[in-house]
Amino acid sequence: VLGISRTYRMRSGLFGRAASVHAVDGLSFGIAKGETLGIVGESGSGKSTTGRMALGLESPDQGSVRFDGAPIATPGSSAWRVQRARMQMIFQDPLGALDRRLSVADQIREPLDIHKIGTAAERDDRVHELLQSVDLNDSHGRRYPGALSGGQRQRIVLARALATRPDFLVCDEPVSALDVSIQAQVVNLLIDLQARLGLTMLFISHDLRVVRQISRKVAVMYLGRIVEYGDADDLFARPQHPYTQALVSASPAPGRRSTNRIVLTGDPPNPAARPSGCAFHPRCRHATARCAAEAPQLVALDDQRQVACHLTTGARPKTQDAA
Ligand code: SF4
Ligand code: MG
Repeated sequence: VLGISRTYRMRSGLFGRAASVHAVDGLSFGIAKGETLGIVGESGSGKSTTGRMALGLESPDQGSVRFDGAPIATPGSSAWRVQRARMQMIFQDPLGALDRRLSVADQIREPLDIHKIGTAAERDDRVHELLQSVDLNDSHGRRYPGALSGGQRQRIVLARALATRPDFLVCDEPVSALDVSIQAQVVNLLIDLQARLGLTMLFISHDLRVVRQISRKVAVMYLGRIVEYGDADDLFARPQHPYTQALVSASPAPGRRSTNRIVLTGDPPNPAARPSGCAFHPRCRHATARCAAEAPQLVALDDQRQVACHLTTGARPKTQDAA
């Protein structure tokens, strides 16, 4: 059920840390409560910036981010701390997120101490429960991060992120640093926890396979903009944007013939040198003069798919179907 009451919305424009670098430009999306939105794109597409803005860790310089109907509070304020306890983030590098000098149990306990949740005994019980929820046990709790595998460390980061019972979780390339076999375990655990706890998730990855598995909706980003948005299965089965088509054809999938592969040529996206018009035009095999001059808007093709491409949305009307 789509809960409008907890729709997550973001609007931002001209976001830039260094002047004139637009990491994210005119982005607008919502995530319904209990759903997972996947964001895919190459590095430099603005995925991580989007995730950080979603948590209020970076502010858009135009537009606003709303959480559960309310604007994100000013970072550092007491209202923001209350919101932050309900939002957590996990990153690619679990070791960087953990303190090597603290035992695993102490690190999972830390957010409970910070937010003063429960008595000492209740916090111990909660740590035990959290370890179990990520398929670890008390003996892992007594160890230190250096003595654990990459997959175990990411489970610990996850357990700690869940300690305050957040509603919203941003996962930025959470399994990219792990072996493929371990990736599947962590992804399955995330899917399981998401369903069990009713978490709303923003799942950021360059890996289509993983995003497809975990997401209900997917946004494909290119140089700070969403170029395609839709239901995950349908989007990957019938990509409409030339960039999505190239990503899908480059991603190995059982049953797809490699002869259909579209090779992406040209330079990878660079936010500091954004091409005119459609930012993808230097790499697009369908590009026309219009593409270099005019930026396509994100347009609804039907009730679930949106695409930003002159080819797809401009020349869409019936004449094409009839031809
Ligand atoms: Fe390619 Fe033009 Fe569509 Fe951009 S707008 S994706 S350059 S066809
Ligand atoms: Mg990133």
